[in-house]
Amino acid sequence: FFCVAQGFDFFYFVQQWPGSYCDTKKSCCYPKTGKPDSNFGVHGLWPNYENGSYPSNCDPRNPFDKSKISDLVSELQNEWPTLACPSGDGYKFWEHEWEKHGTCSESVLDQHDYFGVTLDLKEKSNLLQALTSAGINPDDEKYSLEHIKDAIKESVGYEPWIECNKDADRISQLYQVYLCVDTSGKNFIDCPVFPRGSCAPTIQFPTF
Ligand code: 5GP
Ligand code: 5GP
Ligand code: 5GP
Repeated sequence: FFCVAQGFDFFYFVQQWPGSYCDTKKSCCYPKTGKPDSNFGVHGLWPNYENGSYPSNCDPRNPFDKSKISDLVSELQNEWPTLACPSGDGYKFWEHEWEKHGTCSESVLDQHDYFGVTLDLKEKSNLLQALTSAGINPDDEKYSLEHIKDAIKESVGYEPWIECNKDADRISQLYQVYLCVDTSGKNFIDCPVFPRGSCAPTIQFPTF
């Protein structure tokens, strides 16, 4: 019988603040290419269902092929750096994201386009600029969660979801920003459903 593509309803486009990945108990390792910019980095573009669940690892027959993204590598190293240990060149992170999430949108985006549209979304969202122009800076100060969300909504046009984690002193901090994207991978949309989890009402924005 035929295995029919599972489809999906929208994407979460997820960006991580490197300072908040690195200042946890677990710490981090800078990529072999050096310390990333003090900027948000891409975590992934994740197909999702409107009921909150999501498909994963959809096509083992379509494994990551680095030759398909050779023209994007320098941009990926800047915009989608890996911070996991041990230090890597990024390919392992991108391979994981393609195989777990990207293969679930392969009916819409081939591997090259999956990484290409994600880089476009990163550029379009311009999160750090959205925050700093509202006076929200990565300076270890605390900011209200609502102020952070409003600044992003004001700039991007759509309400984000903020994921927090805790630093080594258990302080709640800005870790990841989720924006929703239509199934073409090209347009931000209102989120059909938000992820779960909670932040403190005021959260730290760590330096990096
Ligand atoms: P965590 O358990 O750390 O929140 O998430 C682990 C991984 O599960 C994420 O990096 C991502 O690959 C996947 N994941 C977590 N939450 C979601 C979600 O709401 N939607 C999708 N598509 N993937 C998710
Ligand atoms: P997800 O949580 O999307 O399933 O996958 C995260 C995986 O990618 C984990 O295995 C994690 O170790 C690896 N990884 C490599 N570099 C990074 C990074 O910079 N940030 C995050 N969140 N995960 C990374
Ligand atoms: P409310 O929906 O009343 O603003 O918040 C309810 C709970 O969700 C509170 O614990 C609040 O901190 C949390 N919350 C509100 N907005 C966000 C968000 O964007 N991200 C996360 N992780 N939690 C949020």
